[in-house]
Amino acid sequence: MTKVALLVVGAGPAGWSAVSGYRAAGGGGPVLLAGEDAHPPYRRPPLSKDYLRGESGRDELALQPTTWYVREQVRMETRARVLALDAEARTADVDGVGSVAFDRCVITTGAAPARPAAIPGAEDSRALTLRTIENADALRAAGGRLVVVGSGFIGCEAAASMAMRGTEVTLVTDEAVPHAGRLGREVGERISGWLSETGVTVLTGREVGAVEPPAVRLADGARVTGDAVLLALGVEARVELAEAAGLDTEDGRLICDESGRTSADGIWAAGDLARLFNPTAGRRLTVEHWGEALTQGEVAGRSAAGQQSAWDSVPGFWSTIGRRTIKYAAWGDGHDDVRLRGDDAAWSAWFVRDGACVGVLSHNRDGDYELGRELVARGERIP
Ligand SMILES: Cc1cc2nc3c(=O)[nH]c(=O)nc-3n(C[C@H](O)[C@H](O)[C@H](O)COP(=O)(O)OP(=O)(O)OC[C@H]3O[C@@H](n4cnc5c(N)ncnc54)[C@H](O)[C@@H]3O)c2cc1C
Repeated sequence: MTKVALLVVGAGPAGWSAVSGYRAAGGGGPVLLAGEDAHPPYRRPPLSKDYLRGESGRDELALQPTTWYVREQVRMETRARVLALDAEARTADVDGVGSVAFDRCVITTGAAPARPAAIPGAEDSRALTLRTIENADALRAAGGRLVVVGSGFIGCEAAASMAMRGTEVTLVTDEAVPHAGRLGREVGERISGWLSETGVTVLTGREVGAVEPPAVRLADGARVTGDAVLLALGVEARVELAEAAGLDTEDGRLICDESGRTSADGIWAAGDLARLFNPTAGRRLTVEHWGEALTQGEVAGRSAAGQQSAWDSVPGFWSTIGRRTIKYAAWGDGHDDVRLRGDDAAWSAWFVRDGACVGVLSHNRDGDYELGRELVARGERIP
């Protein structure tokens, strides 16, 4: 049996940051970072942007050089899926490593692209998804015509990037405009305009009846045919390991306090998988952002090392659609009004709930983004 002071399950940004935070807070002893991926932690955001467009290479994706793990005395194991976790005995069964006994553990198993059972054919493995380097490589090789299903950030970014590569892209969404549900109609219309600008054909208000790669059949019977189909229908948290270990979950996420501590002693969690309590917001939040995975991972790692640490910042997110960048800071769990300010070249959308600012999204107005973040944290009115 291998004995470690800290076991981190999942080697994405939250996992890397947990290890880094643990060491930075003086956490000692052997550390094992076990990830099922074939690669040490790497950046996912470029996979729908510059990497997908062929403007950056694999060698630019690694989060840290291999020398970092040596220097920090972290045993990084790739292709090492954690098969089972015993929260009481504090042991784990790790593929390729064997039985591991741990003093403390941080779970950062992240999320995987959704393949909703309600859509016939969504589970067909010929329908592509986008989460890993291998997924991005498959998409790049997918041929001259692509059908994208879904108009969230990944769907919009990937559609624009593929169109910029010269691919004929059709994006199908059941929303009235992309992002209407999350960001409101006016913001959605601007994003839709950017997609059209890059050459993407946007089919809005169209429900998908079935996925039949390389085509999709719409609910009204029409068929949209390409050389490949990309499903971009959101993600599902990978809670299966934690759930099997008996840890408490809520709406498919692992419940944590502000330090990332789960319902089991000695076990913390962070990132897409987790729903941490945010003391500034006064409630638990689900967040699927790169920066938050890093922040929460560090908090969980420091906490596991015995240092008091809390996730109390307003979640922030950047997205690039074609050549346009938006910055978004928000609690992300609902608004009752959106106010748009500015012109096509530079604008901000302010999100309001019960009179208080709960979010800001800006394009070429960085001052608004910074101010908005403060207003959200303080629960104040928009300017
Ligand atoms: C294409 C793309 C573009 C994105 N762009 C942006 C962006 O511009 N801005 C932004 O804020 N966010 C972006 N995101 C979201 C961001 O990447 C995620 O929020 C972030 O990766 C979450 O980090 P995580 O560590 O929680 O999970 P993940 O990154 O999913 O990492 C979890 C890791 O755990 C591994 N794992 C799962 N189960 C086990 C197990 N049992 N044993 C061992 N290992 C396991 C998984 O294989 C995975 O490698 C993007 C995501 C994608 C896919």
